[in-house]
Amino acid sequence: MNYIDVHCHLDGGVYGDIGALMEKLAAAGVKKIVAAGYDAETSLLGRELAERYPCCYFTAGIHPTELGKYREGDLEKIAALAAHPKCVAIGETGLDYHYPDTDKAAQREMFLRQLRLADSLSMPVQIHSRDCAADMLALLKENAALLKNGALMHCYSHSPELAAEFSALGLYFSFGGASTWKGSKRAQKSIAAISADRLLTETDSPYMPPSELYGVFPNTPASIPYILKNMAAIRGETEEETAERVWRNAHTLFRKLKNQSPL
Ligand SMILES: [Zn+2]
Repeated sequence: MNYIDVHCHLDGGVYGDIGALMEKLAAAGVKKIVAAGYDAETSLLGRELAERYPCCYFTAGIHPTELGKYREGDLEKIAALAAHPKCVAIGETGLDYHYPDTDKAAQREMFLRQLRLADSLSMPVQIHSRDCAADMLALLKENAALLKNGALMHCYSHSPELAAEFSALGLYFSFGGASTWKGSKRAQKSIAAISADRLLTETDSPYMPPSELYGVFPNTPASIPYILKNMAAIRGETEEETAERVWRNAHTLFRKLKNQSPL
C-alpha cells in the first residue's frame, strides 16, 4: 500500500537523525510526506528537505499564530519558494482564534494575501482553521474565486454539517492522530460524512499521535497507517481501498506531488 502524509512538521530538531526517520517511513510504507511551512524559516527548511529526500515535498506560508515574527519581505520569500518544483501548496495559512490576544484583523489580512498569492501562482492552499468556523466560512465564501486551484483544510475540527458547506467550496479535508482518539466523535462523524474523493491523511507531527501510540513524542509520519486504518474502519472500506483513494486525492489536489527531487 502507498501511504501519504499531506501535513507534518519536520523542524525543531525533535526527530534526531532525519535520514534515519526517512528510512523508518520507507519501512512503514509512507511513500510521500509534505513538510508544512509556518513561517519563512520553516518554509525554507522544507525546501532543503525536499531537495535532499525524494519522498519529501513542502509547503510555503505564514501560520496565523506566527504573525508576530513576520518581517517585511517574508511574503516575497514565500512566493519565491513556491516556484520550487516540490513546493505543492501555499500554507499553512488561515485563522486561529484559540488564544485570547488574537488580532483577528491581522490574521484575516495575512490569510487573504496568501489566498491571493496562491491564486496568482495557480497553486492550492493548506488552510489551518481553529475556533473560527463562522468567520472562516464567511471569508472563504466571499473569496471563493481565489480557491479555484484547490484547498485543503488540515486537521479538520469543525462539525460534519459545516464540512458540507466547506465541501461545496471545493475543499479537501485531512485527518490526523486525534481522529483515532475515543473522544473524537466529531472528527469520526466528519470522516463518515465527507465524500470519498475529498479525504486525506496527515499526522501534523510531532504532536497528536494516534491512540495506539498514546504518549509517544515525537509523533512521526510513520504513524499514518494507524490513521488510515481508523479512517477505513469508520467508512466500512478495506484499508487498500482507502489508501488508494487517499493517494489519488492527494495527487489530484497537489499536482506537484508527481515531481521528483531535482538532484
Ligand atoms: Zn501544522
